[in-house]
Amino acid sequence: MKIQNFIGTFVDPNNDQWIDNIDPATGNVISQIPSSQAEDVNLAVEKALFAFSSWRSKSMLERADVLDAIANKIEERLEEFAMAESLDTGKPLSLARTVDIPRAIANFRFFAGAVRHDETGCHMMAQAINYTCRKPIGVVGLITPWNLPLYLLSWKTAPALVMGNTIVAKPSEMTPTTATMLAQVIDEVSHVQDIFHVVHGYGAEAGAAIVEHPQVKAISFTGGTATGRQVAATASSHFKKLSLELGGKNSSIVFADCDFEKTVSGVARAAFLNQGQVCLCGSRILVERSIYVRFINALIEEVSSLTVGDPRNPSTKLGSLISLQHREKVERYINIARGAGGKILCGGDRPSIGQGFEQGAWLSPTLIADLDVNSIPSVEEIFGPVAVVHPFDDEEEAVRIANGVEYGLSGSVWTQDITRAHSVAQRLETGMVWVNTWLCRDLRVPFGGVKASGVGREGGRYSLEFFSDTQNICIHLG
Ligand code: NDP
Repeated sequence: MKIQNFIGTFVDPNNDQWIDNIDPATGNVISQIPSSQAEDVNLAVEKALFAFSSWRSKSMLERADVLDAIANKIEERLEEFAMAESLDTGKPLSLARTVDIPRAIANFRFFAGAVRHDETGCHMMAQAINYTCRKPIGVVGLITPWNLPLYLLSWKTAPALVMGNTIVAKPSEMTPTTATMLAQVIDEVSHVQDIFHVVHGYGAEAGAAIVEHPQVKAISFTGGTATGRQVAATASSHFKKLSLELGGKNSSIVFADCDFEKTVSGVARAAFLNQGQVCLCGSRILVERSIYVRFINALIEEVSSLTVGDPRNPSTKLGSLISLQHREKVERYINIARGAGGKILCGGDRPSIGQGFEQGAWLSPTLIADLDVNSIPSVEEIFGPVAVVHPFDDEEEAVRIANGVEYGLSGSVWTQDITRAHSVAQRLETGMVWVNTWLCRDLRVPFGGVKASGVGREGGRYSLEFFSDTQNICIHLG
């Protein structure tokens, strides 16, 4: 099967070059996608620019209705979307069915509701009145990673469209399918042609061409910090609006007074959801020394009970990693940990999943102890099913270890002492902190990181502000 670009309609890439799309659970080629270049991006931008005047002239409420229609269509095809996501990523079908696709639907409904209830600013003066309007920016570029393909693309698409922009999107070349299905859905329900285009291909080619294109006025990028740095360098020289959601190395801080059972399962979920391939994953587990041994033993038991297997099997908790190359990268960190005196508490090996899955990118969930807190596996983002554990003696030390990384995306604090919870949470140098929970998401709250984890915030009004330009109008009252 060939998955084409969606540039007003399904089209082949100009150069007729194709990339294999592999199911990472089996190693089978499931489709081919365009290896697009600048000329494909140019065509998409040209069409998006042409559509901009019609789309921006729709009222906000009409655009909100289109978002609802998109959500309804995805919901009708939920099973098909979930299967496509599971095949592209190797993640459990049950996860795609209950998290990825429902969340994408929720994103469209949320932003439809958000603008229906939105208010604009008005500032009165003795002699004049100011009112502030939000205007669409124009053509915006959305570049997204492979770990949560539709979830993250819809998180950008919904606010961008509802604010009146038109879009050129590039999903990761490893997870192209649901973006293409989304393009088809938007085309079906939007009543205005050419508002959303998908150009497939490699980041360094198709992605870079979007970032460089002078008519693309804003870039919303989610991906690794090294790529984000390159994107920022190019986009800022063109004075584009830029939102960067980048990597993380997040700590789960466990105090002796935590609710023990809930914390064990919460910390395990934070480390290994989606095979540890979530930017927010708590892959550094810091445990107060007085409960360290007991906690780690319980954690090993919990992690060892996570079933790794066929993504389509309902009992599967962890699927395969995204690719063999990514597994190699993750395994390199495990080997570095071994070399640095780290003790593998569980995992560290490739599980045997059975017939048909021999060529898949499988890796057991892995816990590593006895490393220095500044060692490479403890401070670099591994982005796989590998977590390190460290003991600490007091709050000061916990905060110091947690802040001792270049990233600043998120963290979690597990304690029943409310004063300590506030105090530790506020001292963490991160954009987000959870207390006695993890990945509990309200779509209105600011989402994003500090330090090397990014620039800007997504979510609720933050996304609506990013995807618009504000204009103040001052009228003299005469
Ligand atoms: P990458 O940075 O490798 O890629 C992200 C996207 O950027 C892909 O579509 C990629 O294309 C594209 N890209 C690559 N090079 C360029 C370039 N020069 N110009 C424009 N686009 C380019 O990240 P991964 O896909 O490997 O995703 C994992 C990373 O994403 C992790 O670091 C993770 O922490 C981060 N992430 C952050 C989140 C957050 O909200 N903070 C959420 C989820 C993930 P291609 O891959 O096709 O080459």
